[in-house]
Amino acid sequence: MSQHLTTVAGVTVDTRHFIGGDRAASTETFTDVSPIDGRALGAIARATAKEAAAAVAAAEAAFPGWAATPPAERARLLRAVADGVEKRIEELALVETADNGALLRSHRRGVMPRVAHNFRFFADRLLKLGHAEFETRGHAQHVSWDPAGPCVLITPWNAPLMLATWKVAPALAAGDTVVLKPSEWSPLTASLLADIATAAGLPAGVLNVVQGYGSEIGSTLTSHPDVRRVSFTGSVPTARLIAASAASRLTPLSLELGGKSPLLVFADADLELAAELAVEQYDNAGQVCLAATRVLVEETAAEEFTRRFTEKAAGLVQGDPRDEATDIGPLIHPHQLEKVDGFVTRALDAGARAVIGGHRGHGLYYPPTLLTDVDQDSEIVQEEVFGPVLTLQTFTGEDEAVRLANGTRFGLAATVATGDHERARRVAARLVAGTVWTNCFFVRDLRAPFGGSRQSGVGREGGDWSFDFYCDLKTTVTAP
Ligand code: NAD
Repeated sequence: MSQHLTTVAGVTVDTRHFIGGDRAASTETFTDVSPIDGRALGAIARATAKEAAAAVAAAEAAFPGWAATPPAERARLLRAVADGVEKRIEELALVETADNGALLRSHRRGVMPRVAHNFRFFADRLLKLGHAEFETRGHAQHVSWDPAGPCVLITPWNAPLMLATWKVAPALAAGDTVVLKPSEWSPLTASLLADIATAAGLPAGVLNVVQGYGSEIGSTLTSHPDVRRVSFTGSVPTARLIAASAASRLTPLSLELGGKSPLLVFADADLELAAELAVEQYDNAGQVCLAATRVLVEETAAEEFTRRFTEKAAGLVQGDPRDEATDIGPLIHPHQLEKVDGFVTRALDAGARAVIGGHRGHGLYYPPTLLTDVDQDSEIVQEEVFGPVLTLQTFTGEDEAVRLANGTRFGLAATVATGDHERARRVAARLVAGTVWTNCFFVRDLRAPFGGSRQSGVGREGGDWSFDFYCDLKTTVTAP
């Protein structure tokens, strides 16, 4: 087998970049390791500024042709990519699980079908994209959504292919070309996507994939003069670096960042449902940007809620994510384990009490943890842990609930559990969050805007908002 191919869970993956329709190697590589068992999965090409610039050049060269491709043809090709994803769901699921340790059953039944849906949805949406017309003193005003140019898309490891295609699909639909930079902790499925795009007939250079460390090639990509959009999903500190870098060219940015979302449980809620919603926050070992990691419970219901919660949490199975019975897999990386453990240890030292968990498990498997006796201004309440760690605070009345809920620098999402619809509406209106769920969690419609307030993000993607970001809007005025 070529030195540039690796076999993961029986699937052959090319470890090189994908630039201008061809595979390209780098002199250096980095080792991709599975969080399940620490096994090396492959030696992945480690880009330097040279390959990063080559990928932008390929995207720039392909742009005029792709932008001129009629929308119906672009949509046809995106649907062909969706078909290709659907044909390879099992392989994509196996590889993604080996790579980032998230549950195989979720990848099979939820995540990879959604990856295909990302392409199909934006293909359909493109064909419905409006062309607004106005008239002013007899002058026709025509508004069009024009392709903007090459886009740099930088993505994280917690849901690698889902988050990548959430950007790739609308950018390509818009008529833009793409340089995708997946996380160095989960590089594999982006490479498979390149194979799928090639098989679907996507022209060379329309989609490019560069592998490597963001710290090494990030600024080449984000400050490049030919790049017209930068869309980033990841952490706040990295977003600051990207924003500073993109500022040199005033390149428009979309930032989808971290969170510290609240789950508000009112005493009038169905407490069984509220406990279920809380336990759901351990999904993906808590490595979910939207996770409602701050549980806020009305004082009078706290005891009963905690009893139901601990009962349910005790039923969670932690183990190998390839096993259908597993509910919680490993953390992605030893660095993440150290980070999570550091947060919990410091919280316990500061006086927090672990209702469940609160200590390391074996390997990268950190047990589900609930900490109580925590102050609103403490680190564990204010900072994103990105692990299976929840805090529990109590409140009295709506005003205090809203004050605590809004009392961080984040504003990605919030969940409200209450039996009173009027209260749900009142409280939702006062919450600072891109998405508010009432008596449910994680229900998403791709037509709706998605993003965060405060430091959880800049801008909104989803539905036509994605096209507003990935397109240059133009008004053409014609005299009578
Ligand atoms: P991260 O910020 O460490 O890395 C994300 C990506 O940025 C990686 O591809 C990395 O290589 C790249 N990068 C690193 N330094 C760079 C630089 N200087 N220039 C350009 N790119 C650079 O984030 P992570 O640890 O991979 O992901 C976890 C974070 O992502 C959490 O904060 C989580 O909440 C957030 N997240 C947000 C959403 C959302 O939709 N809001 C979704 C998932 C994850």
